[in-house]
Amino acid sequence: MIRVPTQEIQLAQYSGVVPEGLISGITSAAKKLQGMRIVHVNATPVGGGVAEILQSLVPLMCSVGIEAEWYVIEPDDAFFRVGKTLHHCLQGDGESLSHDDIALYLKHNEKSANAAAAVGLTADLWLIHDAQVLPLLHYLNAPPGVWVCHVDATRPNTIIMEFLRSYMSNYKMIMASMPEYLPEDNNADRVFVSPPAIDPLIPKHRLLGSDQAREVLAGLGIDPGRPLVAQVSRFDRWKDPWGVIDAYRLARKDVPTLQLALVGAMTADDDYEAQEVLNSVHQYAGGDPDIHILYDPAVIGDLEVNAFQSGSDVIVQKSIREGFGLTVAEAMWKGTPVIGGNCGGIKLQINDGETGLLVNDAASCARSIVTLLNDRTLARSMGEAGRESVRRSFLMPRLLRDYLHVAISVLNGNGSSVHSQHQAAAPLIDN
Ligand code: UDP
Repeated sequence: MIRVPTQEIQLAQYSGVVPEGLISGITSAAKKLQGMRIVHVNATPVGGGVAEILQSLVPLMCSVGIEAEWYVIEPDDAFFRVGKTLHHCLQGDGESLSHDDIALYLKHNEKSANAAAAVGLTADLWLIHDAQVLPLLHYLNAPPGVWVCHVDATRPNTIIMEFLRSYMSNYKMIMASMPEYLPEDNNADRVFVSPPAIDPLIPKHRLLGSDQAREVLAGLGIDPGRPLVAQVSRFDRWKDPWGVIDAYRLARKDVPTLQLALVGAMTADDDYEAQEVLNSVHQYAGGDPDIHILYDPAVIGDLEVNAFQSGSDVIVQKSIREGFGLTVAEAMWKGTPVIGGNCGGIKLQINDGETGLLVNDAASCARSIVTLLNDRTLARSMGEAGRESVRRSFLMPRLLRDYLHVAISVLNGNGSSVHSQHQAAAPLIDN
C-alpha cells in the first residue's frame, strides 16, 4: 500500500468560519482518542470526492492529537475496471460482476492486506472508504474497522449487494451519507449517517472576487459578457452530461446568448470510463462553439474550478445518482445558485426553492436555468441561503466531529448509542 502525504492543517483555523461550539465539541471529543492510530484506506489519491475529503480530514485528525494516516492500494488497471463495474452495480445500472471479476477483486484486496502486513502497518481503527477496498478488513483478519459507503446505493444490484454484505459484517460500524443507502442492513444499529463536507480553507474554495473569476474564465474562452451555466464534474454517466446539454439547448430558446461549460479534469486513476464518456459528450455537443468542454488537468486546476463555481451565473449538477456530490456544496459555498438532480445526497443539500432548485429531467432543468437567469434577485437570495446552509452543515469540522464520535463509539464498544443520536440526516449542527 502507498501512503498519501497531506498538508498540515490546524483546527483553530476554522474558528470564526464554522458555527460556535463545534470547535470546542471536537476538542473535547478528541481527548478520548489521544495518540490513537487511525488509518484511512481508499482506492486512489486523486480525482473524485473521497480523495478530496481525505486530503483535509486526515490532517485535521492529526491536528487534534490522533495519529492519522492515509493509504491507497497499489494501482492496477484490471482491478480499477472491476472497481468501476462494482460502483455501477451499487448505483444500480443493471451491470453485474463475473466470477473472474470477483476473483480479481478479492485477490487484489488480499494482496493489499498482505502488503500492509509485510511492512507492519497496524492501526487501532481502520477507516475503509468505498466498495473497492471493502474486503480489505477481512484479509487484515478483521481488526476494528468502519466502512464508509460514499456511493448512492438506493437501488443496487441485489445479488452484488448480498455478496458485499458478508464483507460488511466484518465492520463494527458503517458510515453512509443517507440513511436509505443501506436500508436492509441486518444490523442497522451499526449504520451511522454522516454526509461528507468540504474544506473552506483550501485554495479551491477560497472566495474569489467576481473580477478575478471572470478573468480566469475569459482566459479559458468564456465570454464574460454573456450568461454562463456550468457543470463541474468527472465525465461520468451518473453525472448525466448529455442531460445538461439538453437542458442548455432548451434554455437557449429563451436565453439565446447562453454559454455552457462542462468541466471535468481527467485525474482519477481508477476512472477508465471517463474517456468514453468524454468522447460521447463531444459528439453530442456537435461542435457548438458555445459549449465549452474542458478536461485537460494541465488547464483545469483548483483556480479554474473555483472560477467556474464562483463566476458562473448558475451551477448545474444534473446527476441521476449521487452519493453526496461535493460539487454542489462547493458551488453553494461560493454563493452561486445551484440546480441539482433530485437524487441521493443532492436532495440532502438542496432544500428545493430555498437553497437551490431540484430537477427531475432536462426540461425542468432548462426552466430552472431560465428562471435563475431572469430573476437575479432570486438567484442571489438562493446563493446566500445555500452558502449559509453549507456553513452550518457541510464544512469539514462537522465531518471531523462525526468521525470522532464514530471512532470513540467503536473503540469504546457502544456503537448503537451514537447511531441513535445521529440517525437523522439533518440538522447536522445545533447552533
Ligand atoms: N473536481 C475537480 N476538478 C474537476 C472536477 C471535479 O477538482 O475538474 C473535484 C470537485 O471539486 C469535487 C470532486 O472533484 O471536490 C468531486 O466530488 P463529488 O462528490 O462531486 O463527485 P465524485 O467525483 O466523487 O463522484
